[in-house]
Amino acid sequence: MDTTRPSNLTTSGPTQQLALTSPRRIFVNRALKLGEITAIGFDMDYTLCRYKPALEVLATELSIGHLVSRGYPEALRDRAFDPDWGVRGLVIDCAKGNVVKMDAHRHVTRAWHGLEPFTDEQRREIYHADPARLSADRWVPSDTLFATPETWLYSQLVQLLEADSGTKLDIHETRRLYADIRYCVDLVHRDDSLKSAVRADMPRYVEPDPHLGQALHRLRSSGKRLFLLTNSDHSYTEHVMSYLLDNQVTGYRSWQDYFESVWVSAGKPSFFQRMEEPIELGAKIFDRGGRVHLEKRLGVSGDRILYVGDHIYGDVLKTRSTTGWRTALIVPELEAEMEALQTEIDAIIERARCEEDLFELESALASAELNLRHVRRAERNPGTGENGQLVLERQALRSCVADFRSRVAATKSRITALSTQIEKHHNPRWGQLLKERHKHSLFGNQMKDYACLYSSRVSNFAAYSPDHDFQPPRDLLPHERALHVRNRNDVDRNGLQTNGGAAQPPVAAS
Ligand SMILES: [Mg+2]
Repeated sequence: MDTTRPSNLTTSGPTQQLALTSPRRIFVNRALKLGEITAIGFDMDYTLCRYKPALEVLATELSIGHLVSRGYPEALRDRAFDPDWGVRGLVIDCAKGNVVKMDAHRHVTRAWHGLEPFTDEQRREIYHADPARLSADRWVPSDTLFATPETWLYSQLVQLLEADSGTKLDIHETRRLYADIRYCVDLVHRDDSLKSAVRADMPRYVEPDPHLGQALHRLRSSGKRLFLLTNSDHSYTEHVMSYLLDNQVTGYRSWQDYFESVWVSAGKPSFFQRMEEPIELGAKIFDRGGRVHLEKRLGVSGDRILYVGDHIYGDVLKTRSTTGWRTALIVPELEAEMEALQTEIDAIIERARCEEDLFELESALASAELNLRHVRRAERNPGTGENGQLVLERQALRSCVADFRSRVAATKSRITALSTQIEKHHNPRWGQLLKERHKHSLFGNQMKDYACLYSSRVSNFAAYSPDHDFQPPRDLLPHERALHVRNRNDVDRNGLQTNGGAAQPPVAAS
């Protein structure tokens, strides 16, 4: 048996454990006993299969070809796509021609029009305090890594078209622009141009994971019934999965040996509600069909099934709301996000303490200012003559107020400086993927609400027993959090919760 382990597992005594701060842990939003899970399903694209940024570059280049042929400016061909331009979870505002980031409460917190960022004043003027109603067709969330090129193309074309015409696009033009981009990006996925390029040069576009087979083997050999459920077609699935898994682990000559059934061209999320019979393509391979047929074959349903995917809407939100299945979200960006946070861990801890200091300083300042007003009022009382005691009190309080004001200003300034220092390790335009300043980002909040577990890659399951009892961290209200920050040195390394929600303890592989 292949007993190699993910490279960032550390050895501790006789057993191997994940480092406490390892971005390769599985994090827990809702308790899940893996021992009670009978069947585990996996999505393929960006879940079992990690793509390299070259795939987004290719998808963008192919989409540009279609857009130019539909009459969009030739100059678009000169724009080089930057995979780091955006982050997942951005939202296109089709009514205004903007790309925005929202926080957990659906308030727009950052916005760009074309290649220009909004100032805070401009952003507040357009989006003021109303939370966005995301169900309206004005808003288009970019919630998969496949959709990342769309936000970049939208920004580029808004800038190019407005520069060409010298006027702002109207609402009909900004809506039509998005529809055309969507159509062209879809086309490169549908017309086989993207997939044929990937098939022709797998190493260029697909990042193999040497621990994937071991993770699947551990689950399967413990009695879990594994299935693959993907929107990709049979031919493409065969190519990708063969490249990833054939002969990776002794005893598994073909990738199909890991899975009890394989469902291709599934058409998620409608798959979860469809009743149609699947087409049998082989002994265990099914085309289209619906969830009821999958559950019938498995002989289990509801919360005995765990589904692992990367799409917050198609794999997690709709699954949770229509099937009762448990869910795990794969967030490949998590590793880079946690490594960036780790780089500035001292600054994050210092900022948390400064924020608590600020609360106490502002309370003390308000109290001193109130006392000062009382003393001044007493001095103005006609019945009060020259009162040396009041004069001394007033002078002392004035000095105290001045001191507190100075310390409040210095603490605020320090918090701003620390925030800038922390932020510089994240996307320069959009900041962290999962956070927006002191709140969760829209994407981070959806992940917290809908995914039972989340992790950076499927092979991270190799570090846990197939019977692992995943427990979420204890919820902390603000008063409890303040006590932790003030009194404990092991304050959460993400500035979020005391153990960051990591499942503990990981176990050694057998
Ligand atoms: Mg996917």
